[in-house]
Formats: sequence, structure tokens, C-alpha cells
Amino acid sequence: MRGPVNGLVCARFGDGPTGDCGQQGERKLAERADVILSGGTVITVDETRRVIRDGAVVFRGSDILAVGKREDVEQRYEAVETRDCRHKLIMPGLVNSHLHFYHTMHRGLAPEDLGGVLWSNYVHGNIATQLTPEDEIYGGLIILLETLKSGTTTYLEAGSYNPAAAIEGVSRIGMRGLMGRRSFDQSILGHSMLMEDTDTCLRENEAFLKTYRNGYNGGLLKACVDVVGQGRCSDRLYVESKKMADDYGTIFNLHLAAVQEEVTATRARTGYRPVEHLDSLGVLDTNVSLVHMIHCADREIDMLARAGANVIHCPSTALKLNYELSSKARFPEMWARGVNVSIGGDASDCSNFADMIRVMYLAAVLPKDYRNDPAISYAETAIEMATINGAKAMGMADEIGSLEAGKRADIIVLDMWRPEWVPNYSEIQNLVYSADGASVETVYINGRLVMDGRKVLTVDENEIIEKCLDLSQRLLERSGVGVPGRWPVI
Ligand SMILES: [Zn+2]
Repeated sequence: MRGPVNGLVCARFGDGPTGDCGQQGERKLAERADVILSGGTVITVDETRRVIRDGAVVFRGSDILAVGKREDVEQRYEAVETRDCRHKLIMPGLVNSHLHFYHTMHRGLAPEDLGGVLWSNYVHGNIATQLTPEDEIYGGLIILLETLKSGTTTYLEAGSYNPAAAIEGVSRIGMRGLMGRRSFDQSILGHSMLMEDTDTCLRENEAFLKTYRNGYNGGLLKACVDVVGQGRCSDRLYVESKKMADDYGTIFNLHLAAVQEEVTATRARTGYRPVEHLDSLGVLDTNVSLVHMIHCADREIDMLARAGANVIHCPSTALKLNYELSSKARFPEMWARGVNVSIGGDASDCSNFADMIRVMYLAAVLPKDYRNDPAISYAETAIEMATINGAKAMGMADEIGSLEAGKRADIIVLDMWRPEWVPNYSEIQNLVYSADGASVETVYINGRLVMDGRKVLTVDENEIIEKCLDLSQRLLERSGVGVPGRWPVI
């Protein structure tokens, strides 16, 4: 703890007037707090996007009390713990707005020569059908550990086959998230394994919402409505899922417009392109989050803007599965029209990583090249997509996504005393273009210290790795697929 400040402490703790307190003849009370993160550079992502050098963030319980210059904060608050954050970067916890649990168990099993729809059919057809609830829990814990250790505090999970087991099984890691049930009722463009009829999708999704409507693990995990989308849902499933999300006050999350084949198939079936189709059904809205969205026409971007629908961009998957991002992506046009675009790390067998700082890097640099315009995107654009825009896409912008008084204390601290941060003229450029998630040192979620000095405090990392290696070996044997590779492994 740093020492008493300007006579505030004495008044607060009733030691009688001494020092400045007595001289000034007034008794300002230092407010009590739990933690002051002190002396670092603070990227706030607040309304004016302040970046505060020699700054501080103070919180009590789950709530941020103040963000400002170190001197001001330390004068106003007396904390149980003050952490010296010189040479550290303090910023909002990152929001990974697209993440899958079950794919983790087949990381490295998808042949590299399968992209787009063929990749999806391979992994879902051959492997996903073999998954157990335990696979989903441990696959979930692994990807959550990976994304947590690289700075993510909140995630939007895209749908589990065993959602009750998954939400309860991963809750012990202590992260914030929205989770749902994987559902689809059409086999267009893909496999039909694990497909359900429309009534089953709706009934089971609603049962999950009912059970977890008030959240799990103290409200940190909540239920949302997930459908696969991407040509694999009937109109009725789209319309009723959106209504269900409205009724339960949550978001409706689906994949859309990832590949050209989906556009072609949707036009053949409905006469509309994918976004036009959802617009025609009245499904686009502020509580709708659409994942991938590579293939969008101008008029569809207008529809998104008008409806306030959210777009979740997953650059690492789009590149690896050849979604044609480099030639077709319209994210700069979406930004220009005010569409909220966030970013996600997606799954371990198509991305194949969950480090959101690496995802930010891609989201920032790709448009510069595909628009041949260095001014089309900035490091700041990527930071917004990974923080406040992700919070908006999850309906949580009032709670998280920036460091501001009154929001939840979801805070990450990065170590800038590392070669890739030197020299450090611009913390923002170094974060997005030079660093990766290994710089993340400390993580608070809802005011709770979840990682300290890169050690995760809530779960036993070794236990989870060992268990996941064991389960994945058994899954490999059950699935009967081979391990792809071009070189002999001896
Ligand atoms: Zn996905």
C-alpha cells in the first residue's frame, strides 16, 4: 500500500487531525476501496477514449469507483491493496465475441486442404458426433484458459450440444459469458448429423433459457439464444428464436454470410441474400449478433445499420478457411455506416487460437491491405472492436467494455517491461502491432483476482491440460479419423 495521502487517511480512520487535515481545518474523507492499480498507462475506451499515463484505476467489490491520474485517485481513495503498475498497461478486459467449446477437442485434426463448407462438414460429420459432455466441459476450460491468459474476461460462446453441463462445468474458471445451445433444423450446405426438428430446437433452447435466465455463478454466466444459421435454419426457427431472445431479454446469436455458397443457396431458396433474408423476416435488431459476415452487399449493410444489428468479425477463421476475406470483406463500409463490429477468436480447429491480441492485429492490418489504404483502419479501431463493441454485441455495454466509474471491474494488466514493447512511444501501437497475449500478467473479473503474475488462481491449469489431453486421445480413437500432416512423424 502506498502511504497516507494529504491528510485524507487520518480523517477517514479517526486518528485525529494531523498534517494537512489539521492545517486545512477540514476533514475530507478518503473513500474506502479494495484495490488501486496505480501508476500505469490506462487505456480507458471511455466516451472520450482517454489514455492516461501515470494513471490509476480503483475499485471496490465488483465496481470501478474511479479512473484518472494516479495522484488524484490516490488522494481520494484509501485501498486495502495498492498495486504498483509502473511499466504496466491497464485496460478493459477483452471481449472474445465468438468462441466454441467443443471444437477444442479436435484442434489439429482437420485436414488443412479443407476450407469453408467442406471443413465444417468434415469436423461436424466425423468428430462432433463423438463428443461427450465431459469433452465439452474440458474443451471449454482449455479454450477459456487460453483466451483468459491472453486478456479475455468475457466471451460469447456459440452453442454447446450439452449446454447445461457446459455452463456449470466451466463456471469455476470465473469468467463472464453468454452461452447457448447449438441448434439447427436444416441440412442445406452441410451435414445433418445432430440436426433436430424445429420444435425440438425451440423447446430445448427455451428450457435452457428458463433454467439459466437469471444467470449462473453469481450471474457471471447467462443464457442466450444460439442457432447455427448459415443456411442451416428454417425461417420459423429464425423468427421464433428472435422472439425468444426478446422475451427473455437476451441476444440472438448466429453465423451468417460466411461463404459464397451460403449466399447462392439462400438466394436459391428464398430469393434473398442472407442479410436481406433476415431483414425480410423481421429478425434484424439491436439484440442480434451475426458472426462472420464476409459476403454482404451495400444494401445489406444499410439494413444492418438501420436495424442496429451487430456484426462479429472472426479474421483468423476467415483467413484459414478461405472465406474470401481479402477480396470480399466489407468491414470498413460497415464501420462507415455505423454498424457495430466486434471481433472473435472462434474455434480451436479453424482459427486456431483464442489470443484476442493476435485477433486485434489481424483486424487492424487486413483492411489496410485489402483496401490498399493505410488510413482505413487503426490500432484504436481494433481495440474498440475487442472491448466496447464486443460489449455492445453482447448487450453488456452498460456493464463492461471500458474502464469507467460504475462499470464492473473487468480489468487486465499487461507487462510493458518486455523487449517487444521497447521503445514505448505508443502503448496503443505496441499493444496491437508488437505484443501478443503473453504480455497479459494480471486479470480481474467482476473485481475478483482471477490471474496474478500469469498464474490462474481459479482452476488448476495442469489438471485441465492433463484431462484434456486424455479426453482428446479417446475422442481421436472413437472418431477413427487420422491426424493430418505432410511430413513423417517418427
Ligand atoms: Zn462459429
